[in-house]
Amino acid sequence: MSSDLRSRVTALAEQYRKAHAPLTPERLAAGIGASLSYGRLPEGRFGAWMPGQNHILIDQDSPPKRQRFTLAHEVMHILIQQDDDLLSELHEAYAGQELEKELEALCNLGAAEMLLPGQAVEAAIAQKGQTPRLIPELAELHQVSEEVVIIALAERGPVPSVVLMAGSKPLRVYFSAKHPRLTGWVSRGTGFRRDDPLVVTFETGLPQKTTARLPNHEVLYGLEAYPRNGRVYAVYKVLQN
Ligand SMILES: [Zn+2]
Repeated sequence: MSSDLRSRVTALAEQYRKAHAPLTPERLAAGIGASLSYGRLPEGRFGAWMPGQNHILIDQDSPPKRQRFTLAHEVMHILIQQDDDLLSELHEAYAGQELEKELEALCNLGAAEMLLPGQAVEAAIAQKGQTPRLIPELAELHQVSEEVVIIALAERGPVPSVVLMAGSKPLRVYFSAKHPRLTGWVSRGTGFRRDDPLVVTFETGLPQKTTARLPNHEVLYGLEAYPRNGRVYAVYKVLQN
């Protein structure tokens, strides 16, 4: 993904946060003149924007922090849609399914920046390191969903990394994000081998630092895994010589 596109999306989000703070759900939607309601959506979807009516529909059954993240994501769709330069750059760089995927990632990136300022994330990393412990910690401190922190950590971490949270039995990925320079990717629902260090961390409840591969990938990463409240949080850092 182009770093220029990313920095422009981040700047758009930052501008929006400053112009419309505090970003309550109502103010989030009103900032782009959209109306907002909560209802049922098709399986696997948490929000939708209806351009004709300039209306945003959010899944009524999601937890409130997840709803706020989804809303910010839909607002990012609209902000990008209204930015002709950004839009043409995006269409020059990508097409078809790849365009869809990049657009979704950009909206996630912008939504994360709206709700959790990048500077706060960088300050936390400088103080405590690029650790998965920051996921529940920053989510609690800033009252955002853990998805938001995962996106921000992957984006801002000084060492390129894949950041994820997993849970359930058998263990599967709930959400993941990666540094723009990395190709390693794990999608929602991906499972793990029984002897995977992440499964061991989850089952023993003991944090660990080791080296590990992502499911279905060859590359070895430096892994830090942190279990808490029925979930396991992980940062897979690129190994540096
Ligand atoms: Zn989207």
